[in-house]
Amino acid sequence: MSAPPAKSRSESAYVREAKVVPGGSMRAAQWFKPHPPYAARGEGCWVIDIDGRRILDCANNFFSLIHGHAFPPILDAVHRAMAGGTAFGLPTESEILLAETLAARNPRMEQTRFCNSGTEAVLSAVKGARAITGRERIAKFEGCYHGAYDWMEVSLDPSPANWNDESCNPASVRSNAGVPESVLRETVVLPYDDPQRCADILRHEGRTLAAIVVDPLASRAGTVPMSKEIVGVLREACRRDGILLIADEVISFRLSFDGASRSFGLEPDLIATAKIIGGGLPIGAVSGSADLMSVFNHAEGKPKVSMGGTFSGNPLSMAAGLASLAHYSQSAIERLNGLGDRLRNKVRDSFSAAGVAASFTGMGSLFRLHLGGANVTGYRTAYTSPEKTQLIRRIQFAMLEEGILLTPNCSGALSTPMTESEISLIADKLVAVVAKQV
Ligand code: PLP
Repeated sequence: MSAPPAKSRSESAYVREAKVVPGGSMRAAQWFKPHPPYAARGEGCWVIDIDGRRILDCANNFFSLIHGHAFPPILDAVHRAMAGGTAFGLPTESEILLAETLAARNPRMEQTRFCNSGTEAVLSAVKGARAITGRERIAKFEGCYHGAYDWMEVSLDPSPANWNDESCNPASVRSNAGVPESVLRETVVLPYDDPQRCADILRHEGRTLAAIVVDPLASRAGTVPMSKEIVGVLREACRRDGILLIADEVISFRLSFDGASRSFGLEPDLIATAKIIGGGLPIGAVSGSADLMSVFNHAEGKPKVSMGGTFSGNPLSMAAGLASLAHYSQSAIERLNGLGDRLRNKVRDSFSAAGVAASFTGMGSLFRLHLGGANVTGYRTAYTSPEKTQLIRRIQFAMLEEGILLTPNCSGALSTPMTESEISLIADKLVAVVAKQV
């Protein structure tokens, strides 16, 4: 696939948008060079830009479109719901059905409250945990992204400059201008791939913590499955010190029928989900036992955590989510995860056959490229020099030139319309591009 012509429609759109939208695009223009392709429409696992280029979509709107674009059962469900009105200041039966669907998939999701994004889900779970425990501080892992909540916009940058000088423990550092200093004192940062250090920090800080927020397959920290050792450390600390464990399954819920936690041995108190449970429409959710979820129950008249919003539980997101999960059955999940295994094996085999110093992490339908031959076990081993980060970016641009859309850190997600043929395409292009760039 050749690059778009110099005066493409996307280029003109970008020039116009830069005048009215800071940053030039709602989809971080710096992720694309010289400008993003503007999407016109999607068909299954393909997106067609306004210049008519067909691009294989491995970003899937940040991993939210498990069935790709314009999946007919989701379109039908949304059209039917929309014909009756888009939102009401009253509940609809569809919110009952989606909460029941989650409860049927995972007994730990006995009750659910809906919101409109993963950010809201995580922040509501954190507030719930604070109200339940009467504590304010929370812990998160370095390099792990959990949305745009002040306490979560801490220590996202994978650089040794963000480790404390003497101890090498991760420092609590601001990752977004605008995060108040006070937040840094209230956020304890844990290493994703160092169980001993993690245990030591928790032994010291545990009794001050309301919650630990954890994503067992954190994309930004390397898309490396969390180790059994870390899981053991978390379970012990939570039991010992009365800390609530919040599983951020905003992405990782796709890994199996009941989400990610059980297969990792995590026993979360609250689970935050979003993305695929909304079938491509805005959604977020906090789930847990009826006992813990009563913290969101205002009907009892006690001071509780308010969790609502103008579009929370709106019938369009509920309808899309129901259709999405109805078609994300055990067999659909096994098929998709099998494609993911084959993709990872194919790429790894090709890298080693060609002597390319790169590794390819992931699990289920999620994958990520790393440069260097090191065994990537998390944020600390995934960390590479700024030069390598730039090279990863160049590989992402080159993949887009080849007609494959990855996220800026060269991670991606498969969607159910994909087949062996798309897997071969991704593997062949990736190996060729990496071999040329490295
Ligand atoms: N948690 C994780 C693990 C995420 O990857 C994201 C977004 O990518 C979020 C939370 C925030 O979700 P949203 O973008 O829907 O606010």
